[in-house]
Amino acid sequence: MTQHPQRLTIRRPDDWHLHLRTGAMLRAVLPHSAAQLGRAIVMPNLVPPVITAAQAETYRAEILGALPAGSRFQPLMTAYLTDGTDPDDLEAGKKAGIFTAVKMYPAHATTNSAHGVTDLEKVAPCLDRMAKVGLPLLVHGEVTDQKVDIFDREAVFIDTVLPKIRNRHPDLKIVLEHITTAEGVAVVRKYGPTGKLAATITAHHLMINRSSIFAGGIRPHLYCLPIAKRETHRLALREAATSGEPWFFFGTDSAPHPIGAKESACGCAGIYTAATAVELYTQVFDEEGKLDRLEAFTSLNGPAYYDLPPNDDTITLEKSGLTVPDILDIDGKTAVLPFRSGERLDWRLV
Ligand SMILES: [Zn+2]
Repeated sequence: MTQHPQRLTIRRPDDWHLHLRTGAMLRAVLPHSAAQLGRAIVMPNLVPPVITAAQAETYRAEILGALPAGSRFQPLMTAYLTDGTDPDDLEAGKKAGIFTAVKMYPAHATTNSAHGVTDLEKVAPCLDRMAKVGLPLLVHGEVTDQKVDIFDREAVFIDTVLPKIRNRHPDLKIVLEHITTAEGVAVVRKYGPTGKLAATITAHHLMINRSSIFAGGIRPHLYCLPIAKRETHRLALREAATSGEPWFFFGTDSAPHPIGAKESACGCAGIYTAATAVELYTQVFDEEGKLDRLEAFTSLNGPAYYDLPPNDDTITLEKSGLTVPDILDIDGKTAVLPFRSGERLDWRLV
């Protein structure tokens, strides 16, 4: 690869952490992801959450039914782990090809997580079974103790909760999702070589820091969980993502919320990046002079961790620039504002 390529062809990427919602919202946002990606790990935090294999199968059918004609996009379904989840149902769901992973939210950690896990002991039988049948655990890695400062919740989780899971379930594959801190980078680097720990990194956490949320006024569309941290952490994430190390991979955590729910006295957490996810990551890798490592991050490391083959087709990007789409209409009454809406990005998918 030349140092400043104007065109780039890579294996088709996958998104290892995506929120697609249901109904009109699903139908509006799915074409964005389907145009870019081969597969995506679909988050189960619907209302009510997707807990059982039967619920996941119904949700998958809705997603497949909402795909644009001719799309080969594959939704990879997850179970929402609760204190009452049945290990047999997880195993049956895995064997039937319905479940690819299981998501653990500490109770009340983020949007629609009220059903989350309150006590690790209660889900130990599930985690044992998942290790046995090869279902990775996807963790929203933040403590929910309101006494812990919001900017420290990930680091405290890594110190206090993650070791408990790892020690009690050494054979369980874990993905520490959407890491936002240097501590997250360090722990994944330390245990990545065991093959039992990896991390997704979002495009927005590579691009914004906590000051961005307050630049010139409060910017509710940059509020997400885990919240963006200080600049030193953003730089650590950029270094990790572009390092080529196999335990870091693409996971946007793209989460569409109606504009009214974001621009509110108590706005929701979540950033919608799916419209230009691949272009956003490509811009970061280009800025870091690491375009030669883009494909590993977007298209190879994730499938390898999940024991899946990479996609068999490619995408091509061109350095001709792209204006991020404006407001995305959902149903005539609600709309979603894409991250960097109206701004120019350097790369475009052709
Ligand atoms: Zn998420």
